[in-house]
Amino acid sequence: MGARFGRDARGPLAGLLVAALVSLACAGGGLAEPEAERPGANQSAASPGPRTTRADSTTSVAEFEQDVADAQAVAERYWAAQFKESGQRFRPIRRIIPYQREGEVSCGGQALPRNNAVYCSQGDFIAYDVAWSVAAFRQVGDAFVFYLLGHEYAHAIQVRLGINYSFTIQQELQADCMAGAYLGDSVRSEALTLAEGDLDEFREGVAAVGDDPDQPWFAEGAHGTAEQRTDMFFRGYEGSLKECDLG
Ligand SMILES: [Zn+2]
Repeated sequence: MGARFGRDARGPLAGLLVAALVSLACAGGGLAEPEAERPGANQSAASPGPRTTRADSTTSVAEFEQDVADAQAVAERYWAAQFKESGQRFRPIRRIIPYQREGEVSCGGQALPRNNAVYCSQGDFIAYDVAWSVAAFRQVGDAFVFYLLGHEYAHAIQVRLGINYSFTIQQELQADCMAGAYLGDSVRSEALTLAEGDLDEFREGVAAVGDDPDQPWFAEGAHGTAEQRTDMFFRGYEGSLKECDLG
């Protein structure tokens, strides 16, 4: 599977970015078809083999898009293997939709806002704000893309497994654990190779999407504090899916 993390383009996490990341919504419920799908937005898995690292110094949109495609391919190979092991057939998500404007894509009749990334269960797609995601990619580093995609993809897996917790935070922390497992297992199987600093990027990226400490854990939309999210991500990363209570 994949992509090798290479670039190390870390910078200070601007307050603006952190604020934006905190708004990560991850709609898990009620969704419909997107109102508008950009032609050519469908990025099917390219199933790349192990590859050498790309240039370390660039942070181009093209590189970002390649990382998204790589992360999707890695996630789909990973989940296909997990499903196969348990005798089930894996069905990949329908598509990944980058968007640029509020309302360009909607989910269950709800327009997707800027500065967000979601998995939309009714339409079975992942959508993300391009400008927001590229900004995070530039500030946190390329590992963030693999985490983000892994987290959203985990929501698609939850739907396939029929997992539906009472509280959003349970669903979200499990998705963080699953994102950690897909990455950790992929590194252990050498499908992914980490560059120096990538683990720190995971830590920084996951922490950046933590809830405001004042957010009640039972609130609709609660994802978990930076500490909770980091803890669950690394439990999955180090201990694989058995840490994630998939049943
Ligand atoms: Zn989520």
